[in-house]
Amino acid sequence: MPHDTPLISTIVGGLVLAFIFGALAHRLRMPPLIGYLIAGVLVGPHTPGYVADQSLAPELAEIGVILLMFGVGLHFSLKDLMSVRGIALPGAIAQIAFATLLGWGLGALMGWPTGGSLVFGLALSVASTVVLLKALQERRLVETERGRIAVGWLIVEDLAMVLALVLIPAAAGIGGEGHAPAEPLSAGLNRLFDLDLGIGGMIATTLVKVALFVALMLVFGRKLIPWTMHRIAHTGSRELFRLGVLAIALGVAFGAAKLFGVSLALGAFFAGMVLAESELSHRAAQESLPLRDAFAVLFFVSVGMLFDPKILIDRPLPILATIFIIVIGKSVAALLIVLAFKKPLATALTISASLGQIGEFSFILAALGVDLGLLPEEGRDLILAGAIISIILNPLLFFLCDRLRPLLEGTRREESTAEPAVAPAEETAPSEDDEVHPSGLHGHAIVVGYGRVGKIVGQNLKSAGTPFLVIEDSDKRVGELKAQGIEAFLGNAAATETLNLANLPAARSIAIAIPNAFEACRIAEQARSANPSILIVARAHSDAEVEALKQYGADTVIMGEREIALGMVDRLAQVHHESVAYEDSAYEDSHGPDTIIATDHPPPERE
Ligand code: AMP
Repeated sequence: MPHDTPLISTIVGGLVLAFIFGALAHRLRMPPLIGYLIAGVLVGPHTPGYVADQSLAPELAEIGVILLMFGVGLHFSLKDLMSVRGIALPGAIAQIAFATLLGWGLGALMGWPTGGSLVFGLALSVASTVVLLKALQERRLVETERGRIAVGWLIVEDLAMVLALVLIPAAAGIGGEGHAPAEPLSAGLNRLFDLDLGIGGMIATTLVKVALFVALMLVFGRKLIPWTMHRIAHTGSRELFRLGVLAIALGVAFGAAKLFGVSLALGAFFAGMVLAESELSHRAAQESLPLRDAFAVLFFVSVGMLFDPKILIDRPLPILATIFIIVIGKSVAALLIVLAFKKPLATALTISASLGQIGEFSFILAALGVDLGLLPEEGRDLILAGAIISIILNPLLFFLCDRLRPLLEGTRREESTAEPAVAPAEETAPSEDDEVHPSGLHGHAIVVGYGRVGKIVGQNLKSAGTPFLVIEDSDKRVGELKAQGIEAFLGNAAATETLNLANLPAARSIAIAIPNAFEACRIAEQARSANPSILIVARAHSDAEVEALKQYGADTVIMGEREIALGMVDRLAQVHHESVAYEDSAYEDSHGPDTIIATDHPPPERE
């Protein structure tokens, strides 16, 4: 190579290996993130061969964190944030306290000083933003109530970390456990007194800075950012719009961190949130998606790089204890806290599973602890190993929670039938977390997706008096449908458990009115195997999609673009007096000449 290019080689090495191992993991039916972590271990310093730049990788990963949090902010309004405050604030604080206590206990057992044990505990108490958000996004939970609580919880943890990063160095000074230079006793006491005020002052300054940033964003940012984006959208330049989205997400996050001492993630979240109420937020989210995913992958690679596999052999017991605290201790604490708030079990399980891991903040705390001489190097190694293993175990935790849920709900139901009079109101109130029972309809139609297409289908079925139900992915739409008295199920219809709720064997027809053909194929396939005689009508946007859907069992596939063309031809035929025939040469090429469709409309009468 003509010159040294650490940035390029880190990005290329990280992405290429992550791609290879991610694809391999997928092939082996494991979550791709395991592949990304392995790629990280391979480009890390603890394995032979190529070593990526160890300071650049985590910095690149931060860009992933920023874009992820920006994306979440885009789905969040201030109202959403406030609505989960009641549970997220006390919940996160109680969980941090509990996990810190456990970590401190383990540290004490290992003979570490109190300060070091506390830093260790604190590092085990904060979940990784990337892992949590990726898990929620994969399960399409970000916009559900439990997703909002989990994100609110994350934001409280984030704020707590901002405070901790300011306070730990100060406390290390007074604690005397650090390698601070020795002082005469009187000077030490004076310092203690000063610092007492100083710590109070520091907390106050940090809080004031955070408050100032939030206020600025809510007062000025809320006007300025949507206004800028609208102006850019009006230029019609896609490139500029994309650039605008990136500039705002990265710029606000960086400014928040440099000027106000707020974390990058929190800054990005607010940048997204002030744009959330604008109708452009959807487009902004789409534009930031590809970069976000690429950089989030680099996050996992950078975590993998820190991991030294040798520790698994050297210190198996302390690692087991650390993982126990992260995966079980924290999860159980979160579960109990959420249940204490009388939230449904499904909510509690999702939140506790999503928090049963640690990541980027823990690394920062560990590094700080070691730098200050509080935390022994061994503590940092345990944190790193705990992080990678808990991230690998996280999908498993979600899987277990899904499995556990029916069992636990069974026992809860038995309890509640024993004492029916005391069933709490929250349990009976309709919510997305209530246990859903399959539909009892027979001879019905199933409408999948209730957007621009599905809505028209549904309205027509309704006015014709045909019994039907809807499967929708957006909780807002499901809420609206239920309010209208229409039977609707929330979830991704491509998932078997959601589709089964529609009572396919008894249904007469299914209209797959979603834009994603890949998911539509999965739905058609399952519908056909559950009910060989069901009429499957599907939506497509290209000839290739039409073919694929037919292969998977669809009886009729309506290609959106062709129908638009037909509609246009139809309209033209009414104006031009000669008969305009619809002709689609592309379609004709592949299907023969008899597919020319003439419009039925006679030309309008001349006045
Ligand atoms: P539109 O493109 O306007 O017809 O909207 C499509 C609708 O389908 C939206 O309301 C989506 O929330 C919904 N949708 C998309 N994919 C799925 C899916 N896999 N399962 C259920 N609903 C979906």
